[in-house]
Amino acid sequence: MTDLGDLLPDLAVRPPGPASRALAERLRRVESRNVTWLADDFPVFWTEARGANVRDADGNVFLDLTGAFGVALTGYGHPRVLEAIRDQSERLLHGMGDVHPPTAKVELLERLARLAPWEGARGVLASTGSEAVEIALKTALLATGRPGVLAFDGAYHGLTLGSLAATTRPLFRERFGARLYPGVALAPFPAPSPAAGEAGADEALARVESLLEHGAPNGDPIGAVILEPVQGRGGIRIPPEGFLSAVARIARERGVVVIADEVLTGTGRSGAPLASTRFGLVPDLLCLGKALGGGLPLSACLGRPEVMDAWPPSGGEAIHTSTFLGHPGACAAALAVLGLLDEGLDRAADDVGGAVLAGLRRGLADVPGVRDVRGLGALIGIELEGDGMAVRVSEGALTEGVFVLPAGPSGRVVELLPSAYLTDRQAQYGVDALVRTVREVVG
Ligand code: PMP
Repeated sequence: MTDLGDLLPDLAVRPPGPASRALAERLRRVESRNVTWLADDFPVFWTEARGANVRDADGNVFLDLTGAFGVALTGYGHPRVLEAIRDQSERLLHGMGDVHPPTAKVELLERLARLAPWEGARGVLASTGSEAVEIALKTALLATGRPGVLAFDGAYHGLTLGSLAATTRPLFRERFGARLYPGVALAPFPAPSPAAGEAGADEALARVESLLEHGAPNGDPIGAVILEPVQGRGGIRIPPEGFLSAVARIARERGVVVIADEVLTGTGRSGAPLASTRFGLVPDLLCLGKALGGGLPLSACLGRPEVMDAWPPSGGEAIHTSTFLGHPGACAAALAVLGLLDEGLDRAADDVGGAVLAGLRRGLADVPGVRDVRGLGALIGIELEGDGMAVRVSEGALTEGVFVLPAGPSGRVVELLPSAYLTDRQAQYGVDALVRTVREVVG
C-alpha cells in the first residue's frame, strides 16, 4: 500500500535526479524523437501516484496540479475507481464492444444518458477525446449533409486527422496540411481580458453569423459548430456570459449542429456536471473524455436522439466502431467516477478551485507581469506577460515539487487542473509555491 495521497512535496534530490536522467537517455534511444521533450532539467519519470501525489524514479514526492492533462479529477487511484476496475477486470477485462457487448457498456450508456442534457440521449463510446470528436463530426455530417465546420481560434480538439482540421495551432497542423479537410472556418473566441486588437463577444458573434451565412473557406456549406465551453490548451479562456448560448441560437436558426467538446471541462471539472449547462448552452452533441475514465482511456460522444438517429440502423456491420469500444474495465471505472459525481465531485471541484483561485489572486494581485488570474471550478489559468513565461514557471515549480503545465499558443498561461480532492494543506502549499515561482520569474 502506498503512503502517497495527502502529502506535501518531499524532494530527496533536485529533479530530475540521476534515475530520471538515466531513463531519459534510454528513452531517447527507443522513442520517436518528437514525442517526449528531453533536456538536462526535464522531465522526471513517474513510478507511483495516489491522490494528488506522484513519486518519481528518484523517490521524490510531488504535488500534482495538472491532473495529468486534466484526467485525475478524482485524484490518482481513487479507491472507488480502483475497486471497480479490480472487480471488473477479474470477471471480464476485455469484451466484444459492438458484437456481443459487455453488460458494463449498457450500464455506462444508461448513466451517461442521465448526465446528458436531453431526454433519450444516445451515445457512442470510444477511447480518446480525439475519437469522440471524430464521431461528433461524422454525426454532424450525417445529420445535416453539410460538411463545413465552424471552429474557434485557439481551439484544441485533438490531433487525429479529422479533429486536427478543427485544432488551430499552426505547430500541430503545418506539416500535415495535405491531409487536413479544408472546409473549417474560424471565428474569434472572445478574449478573456480583451486588449487592443483582440475580439470581444459582439465581434465574435458577428463573425459566427457571417461565416455560417457564407460557408467555409473552400465553399462548403457549414453543418457543425464545434466549441470548447472553456478553451483549455488555448489558455483557460473563459467566454463572457451569454456568448455560448448566443452562438447556439445563431447556429440553430440555420439548422447547424452544435458540438460541445467537453473532453476537458465535462464530468465535474468546471464545478458543474457539464460546463455547457453552467453557461446556459444546450448543445446537440457532447464529447466527453479525460476525467470520465478515472484514469483509464474512455471517451464518449452523446447526442440528442433525433441527431444521433442520422446514423442508419445497423445492417450487421457498424460503420463506426473500434476494437476497444465499450471496454468493460474502462466502463466500470467511469461508472465509479459518475457515482462520485452523484455524490458531489463537481462541488468539490468548485470548492478546491475557488480556494486556489482566491489564494492566487491574493498572492499575485500586485505583480505587474501577471495579466490575469482566472478560473472556473478546477480549471485555473494564470496569464503572464511575455512569451514562454509560463514554461519558465512550470520549470521553476518543478524544483518546488509542484507540477503545473504551460498553455496558450505562446506559453503565457500557467494551467492548473488539480484534483477535486486536494487537501487544504496541499492547496495552500500549491498556491504559495506558485506565487513564489511566478514572482521570481516575472519579477
Ligand atoms: N478536446 C479537448 C477539449 C481536449 O482538451 C483534448 C485533449 N487535450 C482533446 C479533445 C483530445 O483528447 P485526446 O488527447 O484524449 O485525444
